[in-house]
Formats: sequence, structure tokens, C-alpha cells
Amino acid sequence: MLKVENLRVTVGDREILKGVNISVDNEGFHVIMGPNGSGKSTLALTIAGHPRYEVREGRILFNGKDITDMPPYKRARMGIMLAFQHPEEIEGVKIIDFLQQVLAEVKGIDLAEAYDMIVETARELWFKEDDLMRYVNAGFSGGERKRFEILQALLLEPKLLILDEPDSGVDVDSLSVISRKIEELHKKGTAILLITHYGRILQHLDPSTFSVHVMKDGRVVLEKGGEFVKEIEEKGFQRLFEECGCDE
Ligand code: ADP
Ligand code: MG
Ligand code: MG
Repeated sequence: MLKVENLRVTVGDREILKGVNISVDNEGFHVIMGPNGSGKSTLALTIAGHPRYEVREGRILFNGKDITDMPPYKRARMGIMLAFQHPEEIEGVKIIDFLQQVLAEVKGIDLAEAYDMIVETARELWFKEDDLMRYVNAGFSGGERKRFEILQALLLEPKLLILDEPDSGVDVDSLSVISRKIEELHKKGTAILLITHYGRILQHLDPSTFSVHVMKDGRVVLEKGGEFVKEIEEKGFQRLFEECGCDE
């Protein structure tokens, strides 16, 4: 479904991704791990089409179509959604209006129908109807921000959901509802690309259902089954990189 080929990406004149290859199958579940600064968010934002990231070489294919130069909204319409590591406030825009707009644009759902859908789905993520009248992410806690990203995903049911550290800055209760909802989406057919550097969220998931790709310094250097997470947690990235000779 998604194929990233030899992707080289720069920000300004700095090269951040140095030839990334990764494939996500239909309905696959892939986890990307790696130390801070290894390029995980850059990869996510580049797949979503963020204009700050300049592709210098390589390409991104989605269902066989080259999307490397496609604007972000078209990628969204094709079914790619990115849940941000740092979701931003949108001052002056109410959650309910925002979500109704997104559902109308991406899925062609009319406003009244969208309203009911939103209220019902929001409840599953502990948002009350009142909460939906607040401005997007304004004064939201870490857990609320990440739950709001998941709410968008549940409503949109993207073909591919990229989650950038959905576990960072969230309390244990939010973490458990977030991981349950990610599994639910996966079971309904959404392919998942989950970025994390803790593995904390992975304790809630069945390791036989996902594969792990480890990034280091702008490249994917290790690809293993889900059980590998345990080894990462025991040894830490640095020791693993020394052992695999990935440091050279
Ligand atoms: P990760 O998500 O794995 O922590 P990032 O993709 O955020 O890593 O960052 C990878 C490297 O690229 C880091 O060294 C970071 O400082 C740099 N970087 C990312 N975004 C920018 C930017 N907008 N401007 C300059 N440097 C950036
Ligand atoms: Mg980071
Ligand atoms: Mg990051």
C-alpha cells in the first residue's frame, strides 16, 4: 500500500533522511522506533506532504501512485492521515465545526449527520458534548490532545494512519484507551504506521501483530518482528547499534 523508496529529505540545507526504505502492506501494522533526532517525525511529515520537508531523491508510492509531489489535502483524500506528535491549537475554531468541516471535505458527509457521528464517537474517547464547543486543542492537556487526534482518525477511518508518538505526554488511562482505539482501527482495515521511542504503548499491543523498524541517523537500520521491542527495551538503542555494527 505504502512504499517509501530511497527517500532523501532536507530541511533548509540540512539532510535529515538519508535514504529511507519502508513498505507498509494493506492492513499492515508497522512500528517505527529510534532515538530522539533519528528522523521519525521527518519521515511522518514527509509522507503527509508537509511543505517544510524537501524530497531530494527517492519517492513515495501509495497504492501504486507516486505521491511524492502531491499536496497534503490530496493525500488526505486518498486516505492518508497523520496524527501529529505535537498537535497545535487552532484558536477561534471550535472542535465541532472543525470536525464537521473535515468530514464534509474528506468523506462528503453532511453537517447534521456528521454532528451525531462526532458526538457519539467523541464519547468513546471521553469527550462530552460541551467539550466539542471548545477551540481545537486550546488549553488541552497532553492526553486530551492525543485523544483528539485519535477521535479524528476514528471519524475518518483512513486507509493509512500514521501516528507520531501517540504515547508521549499522556497519562496511563489515556494511553490505554488510545491503544485500544488504534487496535480497533487496525481490525477494521486501517493500515498503521506507529512511531514511538518508548515502547510504552506497545505493552498494550500483541507483538505478533506488528513489525518493528528501527531508525538511526536518517536511515532504517533494523527490521524485525514485534518481539524485538523487548530486546530494545532491555539493551537500549546504543548497545543494539554497536552489536549490529550499525554505527559504522
Ligand atoms: P525524531 O522524530 O526521530 O526525534 P526528527 O525527525 O524530529 O526526529 O528530527 C530529526 C533531525 O532533524 C533532528 O536533528 C532535528 O533537529 C532535525 N530537524 C527536524 N525538523 C527540523 C526543522 N524544521 N529545522 C531544522 N532541523 C530540523
Ligand atoms: Mg523526538
Ligand atoms: Mg519526533
